[in-house]
Amino acid sequence: MSATLQFGNGKSAKVQTGLFINNKFQPAADGKTFAVVNPTNGKEIAQVSEASAKDIDVAVKAAREAFNTVWGYNTPGKVRGQICMKLAELIEANVAELAAIESLDNGKAFSIASGFDIPEAAANFRYFGGWADKNHGKVMEVDGSKLCYTRHEPIGVCGQIIPWNFPFLMMAWKIAPALATGNTIVLKTAEQTPLSALKFAELIEQAGVPPGVINIVSGFGPVAGAAISKHMDIDKVAFTGSTLVGRSILSAAASSNLKKTTLELGGKSPNIVFNDADIDQAVSWSCFGINFNHGQTCCAGSRLYVQAGIYDQFQEKLLQKYKSVNVGDPFAEATFSGPQVSQLQFDRIMSYIDSGKQDGAKVLTGGARKGNEGYFIEPTIFTGVDPQSKIAREEIFGPVLVLQKFEDEADLLRIANDSIYGLAAAVFSRDITRALDTAHKLQAGTVWVNCYNQLFPNVPFGGFKSSGIGRELGEYALSNYTNVKSVICNLTAPAP
Ligand code: NAD
Repeated sequence: MSATLQFGNGKSAKVQTGLFINNKFQPAADGKTFAVVNPTNGKEIAQVSEASAKDIDVAVKAAREAFNTVWGYNTPGKVRGQICMKLAELIEANVAELAAIESLDNGKAFSIASGFDIPEAAANFRYFGGWADKNHGKVMEVDGSKLCYTRHEPIGVCGQIIPWNFPFLMMAWKIAPALATGNTIVLKTAEQTPLSALKFAELIEQAGVPPGVINIVSGFGPVAGAAISKHMDIDKVAFTGSTLVGRSILSAAASSNLKKTTLELGGKSPNIVFNDADIDQAVSWSCFGINFNHGQTCCAGSRLYVQAGIYDQFQEKLLQKYKSVNVGDPFAEATFSGPQVSQLQFDRIMSYIDSGKQDGAKVLTGGARKGNEGYFIEPTIFTGVDPQSKIAREEIFGPVLVLQKFEDEADLLRIANDSIYGLAAAVFSRDITRALDTAHKLQAGTVWVNCYNQLFPNVPFGGFKSSGIGRELGEYALSNYTNVKSVICNLTAPAP
């Protein structure tokens, strides 16, 4: 099964649309398929195979067999690292095509997919490839009569469930550390955006990955996703998505085989601008902080708190800055934001905008659909928002900003930390003491100072509170995919 995709830049590409298991594309056991939709116009672009629990079983068997025979300690770290590097090279050699698929399927601007999402994915494979032969254990001194050391062993078969907001990059965040540390993988893409991962699957054999090591399936959460989280022969599950589904994954893991679980969930991140900030810089980063990826970012700076002394000036400059957020065709050069990913997300965001209006907040700009085709929404700013209202407290996952004024620094910290979430935050100030003191008091896994949405393969990312469990990226991510074994070897001690 395959589909020919027509891009908005006049080019086209063929993509295999089956389930990728044992380095082969195959139809679902029951032959089912589902439609993938172009968010710029709501029209179908491809049919892809839809995995059922039976297909997940087949993929897990392939992954188990590969773990036991060809991967893990059967392949030295050095070789696993070389394979990760080769995957990075192949991604880089195919940036234009992968980015076009990502733009068509997800709606993000081609310039951003080709300049950020795809190259960053390659950078992740390269970074974790570098770790493959360096993530070793330690030697411990005990009483001189024994030799004690630890080994960092792969966990086994890893189930990975990813969202639709950064389909290719989230896939790389998940696969690269698992592969480098010697695990085998069954990854389920989001049902909204399966296509770029299927194109990646075509590169897997070329990179020298043995059959069964990386398996990629398309399918729906309650069926294929749930089958992964409760599977008795999956040793670890890694999930990125909503907090609601994260809870169900954790509970399925607990009630099945207690598989190790890491979760990267939602956020409602505070972005704080003090009177002494560089206003123009703070305006630009704040605009980027909420509007990047059309607000479909778990760490989006959706609560913006500006100190009273500069509030009026800041608000006016922010309004001006919003004029530069071009919403339109993802393949047009000037576009910054494309459509939201799906009808469901469009409806969810519009209902939040309606609830803000009903709760008496003022629409400073935006507040409506853009055009009358596809899932485009105007970048929206609310002011005069009741701090207890839905738009001030719940994750909207769209281009909707709640702008608020604050006077007192101590009170601000209470308000900023008053959320079930703790994924990210930002502080803008020219006073390094104030900026870092605030950064240390914010309950968030990442705090940006005088910038926003800056992510690097070697810097950990993850949440406090209900924003998740565990850290992705950086050296910290290696522990998500390894078991520590202590070996205690007697040298001279007689039996007691
Ligand atoms: P979701 O959590 O339902 O979906 C994310 C992934 O989980 C998808 O692959 C989906 O198929 C899978 N899934 C869904 N139900 C499942 C289940 N019962 N068992 C196992 N896997 C399951 O997210 P959504 O419905 O697409 O979006 C809803 C909200 O989630 C958004 O509005 C946003 O707030 C949040 N979200 C957050 C992120 C993030 O990066 N943290 C990403 C996407 C969505």
